[in-house]
Amino acid sequence: MSPVPIHGLLLEELEAFCKEQGQPSFRAKQIWDWLYVKRAASLDEMKNLPAPFRAQLAENFSFQCLEKLEIKGAPGETQKLLLKLVDGELIEAVLIPARTRRTVCVSTQVGCKMACAFCASGQCGFRRNLTAGEIVEQVLLATDVYGERPTNIVYMGVGEPFDNYDETLKSVRILNHPDGLGIGARKITISTSGVIPGIERLAGEGLQVELSVSLHAPENELRSKLMPLNKRYPLDALMQACADYTAKTKRIITFEYTLIKDLNNSAAQARQLVKLLKKFSCRVNLIPLSPVEEFAGERPDSETMKAFFQTLEKAGINTTLRDSKGSALKAACGQLRARSL
Ligand code: SF4
Repeated sequence: MSPVPIHGLLLEELEAFCKEQGQPSFRAKQIWDWLYVKRAASLDEMKNLPAPFRAQLAENFSFQCLEKLEIKGAPGETQKLLLKLVDGELIEAVLIPARTRRTVCVSTQVGCKMACAFCASGQCGFRRNLTAGEIVEQVLLATDVYGERPTNIVYMGVGEPFDNYDETLKSVRILNHPDGLGIGARKITISTSGVIPGIERLAGEGLQVELSVSLHAPENELRSKLMPLNKRYPLDALMQACADYTAKTKRIITFEYTLIKDLNNSAAQARQLVKLLKKFSCRVNLIPLSPVEEFAGERPDSETMKAFFQTLEKAGINTTLRDSKGSALKAACGQLRARSL
């Protein structure tokens, strides 16, 4: 059996391990301090731990389960990390710096079951879930590349976070913990393609994280074509789950809408989207499509995107028209991994 990644343990779990080994529980905080604050490269550096205890840690845990294979992009711009797991699978994480922010976009699965039409990961199929340790390590490797602690984490890389709910939420708790990296919950965004049971569970977690829901179409027929998951969780049920989430958590949801030329960007579709969302207190992110080889769609021209944006804004919906920063790098949603495969 391969050793457990130490970065996938909650502080309480590490405390329990320390007790089992006859060590005081404060040793767990010392270890976390080395892992997340001092960023020790090896166990040997953890000098305030007794040598026999360090040997027990080495026997039970792995300290690195990801290997950096490739970094695409220049420092200060969007950078893409291609990472290899211990079983040889490939994943990716993306660094998105912007003025005061250092954002890391993490993957939660190797591949994805959701098969969204415009997504390279969706076209490559599903391999396995990532563990919490593998998710946390993506952030640590990104921290090394940034040279400092990231300010924001977005769960928008390869995979559907709510299809790997337990490990995703565990990684959130580890990254958010004040004795670890201490990334504020409001700086952590979980993005779902619309998995209703995940939205319902998250509402009961008592976490202040941001929730983002991908819509990409304002009606069921087109949404089912673009996102097959819509057949299981159609728009009416999804919007009801979102309304319940907002009522329970008092948190505003961000809806993501990828603009695709001649498919979902007409004036009528903008009005349909307004109708769908106007009862919500929400934000909308409009994102021009990042072209992938597997999907024939194109991004709309700027005038069309601006008109779509203005229809939402005029209806009082807080809207941003985002640049899909990864596209120049083939970084959007699984494209680097897809190319490597
Ligand atoms: S867009 Fe997200 S949910 Fe859809 S197939 Fe790609 S990774 Fe999966």
